[in-house]
Amino acid sequence: MYVNYLKSGRLHLGYLDGERLLALDGPLLDAFVGGKLPLVPRSAPVEEEPVTFAPPLMQPRSILCLMRSYRKHAEELGNEPPPAPNFFAKMANTLTGHGAPIVIPADVPGEVHHEGELALVIGAGGKNIPVEDAMEHVWGYTIANDVTARTLQGQLKEKGWPWLAAKSRDTFLPLGPGVVPREKFEDPAEFELEVHVNGELRQQASVSRLLWPVREIVAHASRLYRLAKGDLILTGTPEGVGPILPGDTVSVSIEGLGRLENPVIAE
Ligand code: ZN
Repeated sequence: MYVNYLKSGRLHLGYLDGERLLALDGPLLDAFVGGKLPLVPRSAPVEEEPVTFAPPLMQPRSILCLMRSYRKHAEELGNEPPPAPNFFAKMANTLTGHGAPIVIPADVPGEVHHEGELALVIGAGGKNIPVEDAMEHVWGYTIANDVTARTLQGQLKEKGWPWLAAKSRDTFLPLGPGVVPREKFEDPAEFELEVHVNGELRQQASVSRLLWPVREIVAHASRLYRLAKGDLILTGTPEGVGPILPGDTVSVSIEGLGRLENPVIAE
């Protein structure tokens, strides 16, 4: 899969082949969204030193997040799923790459939770996209961890205030490691998602259990909000959300999309 990574303070485009990272010439992954990805030359040099991964998209214009999109997750927090896809937003300051720390701010009370999710990268934007065309607007897939200050979210909801401070803190959206083009997969419903914390299985679900198929989610989002190239749609999390603490390592994996792993630290 194609990745953005940091080496000696500079961002580079790369191709992750299992554990092997190949260095590619050219602009960052963001520049290719919606179009063809560059070929990986046989002569591409292998990065020998450990690198830091950057998010595969650095500046999406919108990050739409589906709420209560798996029935059992809605129920575990005492909620009813909405009758149609319903979104909240995260801001781009939340983005961080594979391997980079999730930083829990000092002012956040109580629990901070992991939420492993399948993320869609929009290629061609549009408004009122018909359901039957919607998959053509999905350029690729990646993995997201919609980190949530759960106790704070509850306190804000109780006051009737926005959840932004619970969802949109710096590093609260690990994304990656890279993007895999949509054409590589027949149907996103076949993805299997797993979340482990310190090696212990916390979340496990088939994306087929989403309350709405991916094409309906994209079509519905475009009716509410004009979609643009490079926008991200997080498809929501299944049941099994739970706390992460400084010192923990949380990993979200989807077969075919790799493994997104991040240590947790305190501010
Ligand atoms: Zn979520």
